[in-house]
Amino acid sequence: MDAIDQVLMNSRLHYLGMAARTIQPVMRLAILTCMDARIDTAGLLGLRPGDAHVLRNAGGRATDDAVAALAISQAVLGTREVMVLHHTECAMGRMKATEMAARIEAATGHAFHEKLETFADPIEAVVEDVERLKRSPHLAHREKIRGFMYDLGEARNVRRPDRGCGGGRRAPQALAPPRAPGEDPRVHVRPREERHQRGVG
Ligand code: ZN
Repeated sequence: MDAIDQVLMNSRLHYLGMAARTIQPVMRLAILTCMDARIDTAGLLGLRPGDAHVLRNAGGRATDDAVAALAISQAVLGTREVMVLHHTECAMGRMKATEMAARIEAATGHAFHEKLETFADPIEAVVEDVERLKRSPHLAHREKIRGFMYDLGEARNVRRPDRGCGGGRRAPQALAPPRAPGEDPRVHVRPREERHQRGVG
């Protein structure tokens, strides 16, 4: 059976209920995260249907497409906060854009010229995406755009924003600290305050 047939069967067991009644996300929150299959956004962040917009792409990057979706999310559908959620062991951090394009070309036999948002430093990538969104003139609400790193190695670590984090300005647990050159980010995702000083939270 194709995977699509399998999920189609699963969908017959799903009932949306009350969440089907309103198009605006109840929490007025948009989450930009990676398409990585291991990230269960709803389970991880305690989201129920209707709570938040979840935008996913390769890397959870603030691409033009993501910005366009967030512009709609805010101006048309009423969201006010953006959570940028990257993760450790991301495929976009393991290859250069040229290598990735070469893989796509080898698999398809066609030249590939689309922009690929790979990155060398996972922490810098989060910083970059938060800053990109904060600079965007198309976002009506840029006061609450915050970046996070989800540590897949520990498979737990991101708290729901603004809940149980010890106060409004304090970083949730999974907020990634800056790392020294040569350190492996997979083992250094720990709570720190520095991210705020660098403008990520
Ligand atoms: Zn990823």
